[in-house]
Amino acid sequence: MTDFLTLLDLDMQELTQYVTDMGYPKFRATQVFDAMYQGKELSEITTLPRDLLEKIKDKYPSFSIVKRLESKDGTKKYVYRFADGEIVEGVFMRYKYGNTLCVSTQVGCRMGCKFCASGLYGLKRNLSAGEILQQIVTVNRDNGGDAKNRSITNVVLMGSGEPLDNYDNVTKFFRLVTSERGLNISQRNISLSTCGLVPNIYRLADDGFSVTLTISLHAPNDEIRQKTMPIANKYSVKEILDACKYYFDKTGRRVVFEYTLVDGLNDTDYCVKELGRILHGFPTHVNVIPLNFVKERGLKGSPVARAHDFAKKLNDSGVSATVRRTLGADIGGACGQLRNKLLDPTPPSP
Ligand code: SAH
Repeated sequence: MTDFLTLLDLDMQELTQYVTDMGYPKFRATQVFDAMYQGKELSEITTLPRDLLEKIKDKYPSFSIVKRLESKDGTKKYVYRFADGEIVEGVFMRYKYGNTLCVSTQVGCRMGCKFCASGLYGLKRNLSAGEILQQIVTVNRDNGGDAKNRSITNVVLMGSGEPLDNYDNVTKFFRLVTSERGLNISQRNISLSTCGLVPNIYRLADDGFSVTLTISLHAPNDEIRQKTMPIANKYSVKEILDACKYYFDKTGRRVVFEYTLVDGLNDTDYCVKELGRILHGFPTHVNVIPLNFVKERGLKGSPVARAHDFAKKLNDSGVSATVRRTLGADIGGACGQLRNKLLDPTPPSP
């Protein structure tokens, strides 16, 4: 078996192999699996023999909630710590159709978007599949859910990190989280948000995944996009749209575009017209989001009225668009506000 970080990185078959290789019967693997998916700590498993507990203790996932902040709107921000001390954040949101957890896929991020807090200190490391899953298992339990009666029904990969920059772990995570004996969350209820790593969009479609693809577009052309997103120097808007068409043709899933409005930069009448033009006829929905304030970044969001006007103009041009409700801004849990440092970090000296 290839190396793995914790037992939560293994699927049922791999876990069974691991446990039976040590000389234990198959049903011991099921017991371990079920305990992990219920979010139990090793000390809470009472059904396993002592010697087995001892053998798996270094590989059993160890993860703790360091902080839980509750917003006025019911949104909860979580700060978690992994075994190696690294910290990431997550956001639990209540919607009419169910509860959504926003998960992180990397500690930090190397994409360097000028409006986002997640990449302020660069990329520290990738999260493993099990570490991404662990966030859901933990928050599920924290909100009274278990593997059968889930308190989390939807997952968005919109926390810190660029999911397509951690392709193998993210796709393994999809396999784990959708498994029937696991959390059984369907791909329809999972959204992957990317700044547009074009080759991996094709790869995702070719590997047979059909999660909702969400593109952080934020500009209607390359010139404006390059002002805030370094990745725009590598892949053009046209290349991204071609990849989205390919994804739609393969999966039949409408692609969602995120458009964060920065005052005076990408919120002009020219931009809305151009965006309407390039997305016309494409089966899509645009989420318009007024930029949330990130103090180190210094960029100003457009006024809310401008966001509504922007969305209306897109709808008038035949492109479906809404202004996304901002949840959790008062606790630093809104889009782009997540950072991998506890509380108010002092930036490293230059
Ligand atoms: N790296 C991925 C996923 C994480 S970001 C991506 O780029 O899509 C989740 C969303 O929040 C993205 O659409 C991102 O562009 C947006 N975002 C980042 N900073 C923001 C800010 N300050 N205000 C509003 N949205 C922001």
